[in-house]
Order: sequence, then structure tokens, then C-alpha cells
Amino acid sequence: MKVNYLIVGAGLTGLTFANLLAQNENNKILIIEKRHHIGGNAYDSYNANHILIHNYGPHIFHTNNQTVWDYLSQFTEWCDYQHRVLSFVDGQFIPMPITLETINQLYNTNFSQFEMVDFIESQKESVVPIKSSEDVALNNAGRDIYEKFFMNYTTKQWGVVPSELDPAVISRIPFRFNRDTRYFTDRYQGIPKAGYTKMCEQMIDRPNIKVMLNTDYKEVRDAIDYDKMIYTGPIDYFYDHQFGKLKYRSVRFEMEDHDCESFQKSAVVNYPNDYDFTRITEYKKITGQQGRKTTIMKEFPCDGEEPFYPFPTKEWQELYLLYKAKADAEKNVIFAGRLAEYRYYNMDAVVDQAMRFFEMRFL
Ligand code: FAD
Ligand code: UDP
Repeated sequence: MKVNYLIVGAGLTGLTFANLLAQNENNKILIIEKRHHIGGNAYDSYNANHILIHNYGPHIFHTNNQTVWDYLSQFTEWCDYQHRVLSFVDGQFIPMPITLETINQLYNTNFSQFEMVDFIESQKESVVPIKSSEDVALNNAGRDIYEKFFMNYTTKQWGVVPSELDPAVISRIPFRFNRDTRYFTDRYQGIPKAGYTKMCEQMIDRPNIKVMLNTDYKEVRDAIDYDKMIYTGPIDYFYDHQFGKLKYRSVRFEMEDHDCESFQKSAVVNYPNDYDFTRITEYKKITGQQGRKTTIMKEFPCDGEEPFYPFPTKEWQELYLLYKAKADAEKNVIFAGRLAEYRYYNMDAVVDQAMRFFEMRFL
């Protein structure tokens, strides 16, 4: 088989490349995907109770990048959605991230913003330079908040203590002195009205794009003749793990159906200090679906086969750089996305990255 572009992986990275390349109708594009569906980890589907669930964990679209927002808005309308999370700490459900509301509820105080500044000043431990995720939390909020909200959650999530993790991990969580309890404050936020999968289908609804599901790249690589490849799978797999396997953190997802309209007070509740799971998501609260039943998902982080998160420590970054050096020397293969670039990207970032690559290399 002869194509112009072979795209490995039908996640948002691969689909953005496919969509942009297909605008030239002379380009023939083939997408190879090893799962039975497109959408990558953003894939969603209806369960037996007709509830739309995110099969690989809750996905909230948020961005400050208008170009990305406008681009994706060609393929979907959006449900307006502002994500809110509660954390179960000291027997209470407390707003997360840390805001004035969190502090007042946790310590049963009635601080103003100025009083919170003074309070946090008295709590925080100045760490210079900041070398780890533990340093970030201690520096922002002090030991009590670190131990209650971050230490155990992070250890459960990654299987190592926060002092071993890159500062970027806990820095993902904002820290605010106001009453804004939203998880994200990006200018554009939402959930695709008909779901992520439908949005993804629209992205590749073009006659010059073909998709081969249930197919691992290595099964067909010798049978396909291509001009260029865009590879979005794990980079170490591409090179047959020749420098050793990269570490990815995985998650086991457990779904439960409940015979009640509402299971919990917010879409996501984090359990930093109790249970083996990190959080429970109630999907109806994200999608706005109504109905007498509900479905929840518990996330159990683990070292499984399915790679979800690149591992954010120096050791694994160094191993990745060996692979990257090889990848940079490839003339006909572009490595892009969360697994191929071994980066903790959000959805908007992979779309942005693919759009930039496309502009640089194909226009
Ligand atoms: P992926 O979505 O991983 O797609 C890669 C595709 O390649 C997969 O479909 C895979 O099956 C396929 N593939 C891999 N190897 C091969 C092979 N050898 N042959 C063929 N196919 C192959 N981002 C947000 O912006 N907001 C969120 O709320 C959010 N929540 C998240 C929650 C969880 C639990 C996780 C794991 C991620 C979350 N993300 C979120 C991140 C988001 O999922 C990623 O940014 C995005 O999916 C990355 O897209 P991608 O195409 O690079 O990778
Ligand atoms: N985190 C934490 N406590 C929380 C929420 C998050 O310690 O209640 C840490 C944890 O290490 C996590 C990181 O912050 O991996 C980033 O959180 P985010 O919600 O962005 O995780 P994701 O949705 O990507 O799994």
C-alpha cells in the first residue's frame, strides 16, 4: 500500500495532523490505531445506562489559546462547563485547589484575602532553589497543607514521594488567595456537546483519510510505503526499547453504576488520605446529563502495561533524551504527542504542538 502520510496513533495529536494534512486533497493519509477506537485517551462512549463516560479518566478541555479553541470549534459545539473539585480531608469535603475557601473551611476561620496572605506567610517554608514537587507545595502553603492535600495523593498517583518528582507536577495545581474555587481559570473551557469521540470523528471526516483500527504499527510497518510518518506512540517502543524501557505511570479504572440521581457533590472528589484510589468522577456532573441513575469511576494508579503518564523524574528524562537524539536524526518520521515526546501534555497543548509542527514543516 502506498500513502503520502502514515500516522501512527488516533489520539488528538494524530488526528490534528491528519486533519491539517488532508486539507490538500492530493495527500493520501492512513492512520494506524492499535485500539478499537479513535480519540486516544480522550475517547468517550455511552455505557449500558446511556451515560456518556470518559473511558480513560475525566477529560476537561481548557485553554488560553484562542487559535486552538477556534480550530477545535470547527468540529464541535461546546457545553459550557467550569470544573470544580472537592478534596476529602479531615472528614470534610473541601474545595481544591487551595483558595481562601479551602483555608477557611479547613481551619474553621473567616479570613479575608489579606488575612489569608498573613496566615500563609506564617505557614510556608521558603525553599531555595525549588528542586522537587514537595518544595513547591511547602513553598506555596507550608507543611500542614502539603501533608493534608498533596503528600499522600501524589505518592498514590506516582508511587514515589513528592520530593523525588519534578516541580512541574504539583505546579500544575494553582494556589490562590481569592474565592475562585474553579479548578481551571483558562479563558476557554468546555466539554464537546456530543462528546470527544464525535468531535474526533468530525476531524477526520475526509475522503483522503483512512483509518485502520485494532492494528499495531509493527504489524504493518513493512507493508506500507509512505513519504512521511507521524508517530504518536511511545518513543521507546518505536526503537524496540534499545536503550531500555521508559517508565510510564498507568491507571486502572473501575466503573460503578448507582441507582440514584446524584452520587457526590461535585464532578470530581479527590481522596488524598483514604483508600487506594485517588479520585472519584461522576460523569453526569461533567456532561450535564439528567437521569435517575448515575455512573462513577474510581482511579487506581499503578505500574501497568497501558502507558498514561510519562514519569516526571530526572532519571527517566535522561533516558528519554537518548531516544530523542535518535528521533531528531530521522528524516522521514516526526515524533509528536504525549507518548512520543514523553511530556505531561494537556489536550490543548498537543493540538497546539501539532498545528505548529504542521506550519513549520508542511506549509
Ligand atoms: P494519546 O491520546 O495517548 O493517543 C495516542 C494513540 O496512539 C492511542 O490511541 C494509542 O492507542 C495509539 N498507539 C500507541 N502505540 C501505538 C502503536 N504501536 N500502534 C498503533 N497505535 C498506537 N488533558 C486535558 O487537557 N484535560 C484533562 O482533563 C485531562 N485529563 C486526563 C486524565 C487522564 C487520566 C489522562 C491519562 C490524561 C488526561 N489528559 C487531560 C491528557 C490527554 O489525555 C492528552 O493530552 C491527550 O490525549 C494526548 O493525545 P495524544 O494523541 O498525544 O496521545
Ligand atoms: N495533586 C495532589 N493532590 C490533589 C490533586 C493533585 O497532590 O488533590 C498532585 C498530583 O501529584 C497530581 C498533580 O498534582 O499528579 C497534578 O494534578 P492534576 O489534577 O493536574 O492531575 P491529572 O488530572 O493530570 O491526573
